[in-house]
Amino acid sequence: MTDRQKLEIFSEILRYRTVSRQPGETFDMKPFMEIAEYLKKAFPQVHRYFKREIVGGGSLLYTLQGSDLSLKPFMLTAHLDVVPADDGENWLEPPFSGKLRDGRIWGRGAIDYKVGVSGMLQACEDFLEGGFRPDRTLILAFGHDEEVGGDTGAAEIVRTLTDRGVSLSSVLDEGGYIYSYPWMERDAAVIGLAEKGYLTLRLTAHGVQGHASVPELNTAAGSLCRCLAELEKNQFTAKLCSPVKMMLAATSGILRESLVTHDHSPTAAEIMQTIEQWPSGNALIRTTTAITMIRGSSKENIIPAEPFALVNFRAVPGDSSLDILNHVLCVAEPLGVDVQYEDTNQIHEPSGIASMETDEYGAIEAAIRGIWPDITVVPGIFPAATDSRHYCKIADNVYRFEPVHLGKDGLGALHSEGESISVEDYLNAISFYTVYVRSVGAV
Ligand SMILES: [Zn+2]
Repeated sequence: MTDRQKLEIFSEILRYRTVSRQPGETFDMKPFMEIAEYLKKAFPQVHRYFKREIVGGGSLLYTLQGSDLSLKPFMLTAHLDVVPADDGENWLEPPFSGKLRDGRIWGRGAIDYKVGVSGMLQACEDFLEGGFRPDRTLILAFGHDEEVGGDTGAAEIVRTLTDRGVSLSSVLDEGGYIYSYPWMERDAAVIGLAEKGYLTLRLTAHGVQGHASVPELNTAAGSLCRCLAELEKNQFTAKLCSPVKMMLAATSGILRESLVTHDHSPTAAEIMQTIEQWPSGNALIRTTTAITMIRGSSKENIIPAEPFALVNFRAVPGDSSLDILNHVLCVAEPLGVDVQYEDTNQIHEPSGIASMETDEYGAIEAAIRGIWPDITVVPGIFPAATDSRHYCKIADNVYRFEPVHLGKDGLGALHSEGESISVEDYLNAISFYTVYVRSVGAV
């Protein structure tokens, strides 16, 4: 197949409006059924050799049995669903056009994460055509609701595999990319070894509803605001988990000139103090506190009886949701503010830290170096969450790397308006997945 044909297939995949909906909204499953049919046509070898199942109503699970069944299978995962693109008013090309322009392919999902779906399937199509068959069983898992938690997609795939007694040696997911942090001189390839935890707490203050013309000297809303201000003042202690420690050590050579003092290279403590000034740096070294919703009364002249705020926390490895709750209780209780879990189904502890001493880590590193010989490869952590939160239950190690340049926006490029990927990145992604699968799949 020519590069041009491969690009056309990717463009077509971007045209399906596989938008995931928030809980309570109805999922339009038609585009998911249509894209599944299209994939059959676009990748005939894959559909000939892999077993394909539809799981959870719209997720796709592909299995290519290896010749050595004593080896644990390995998984590559991506997701079919995308976040909404509104009316696409601020896009150069319409969000579901898949248009090729200026050396880039434009479309919602180009980075997050149809490059994975399309790139992984294309890599498999290519190696099957070339006659390669893995010794180790290869599983591809494409969820249909990753953007809203993966509770019917990835979670159901995990149940299916668990029922079959499958335990994975590894999973390769998104969550690490090629990008730079504000304190770095140039891009690094970040392989995510862990992802942060997730917890939202509801803080409620109690008072008496009243008329704004005769307020008490201290109102419930005042207590709530004092509590929120105290929380921002009392941030969690910075913690250097091992991947971040290694990342900082490995990137000390590409620190911005202005950060390098002349008498010595900066210590870890000095780097921590420097990078916490940037949100993306702060997120690497501590459990973050984000006040996201505040609600008082419904009218300007009503004093609220029970104002509340939602505060979202992302725990670094080493902190737990219980640590967060205790920290918040210490701040809130003296101010008369109640603390409750907002949704116990949406509490996620930080993931375990994947090992760097495996064939898989070596294969990711080698594949990156083969394609981009000059790039610094570093371990890191992903501050958000992916379907891996489900897969980590059945895998020895979960690695997060998507072979794509995010540019100067860094992680901000995900879900951005005008999502696009360079033609070069897409074709390199196919090579990356091919090298990775051939390396891990052959023993
Ligand atoms: Zn994603």
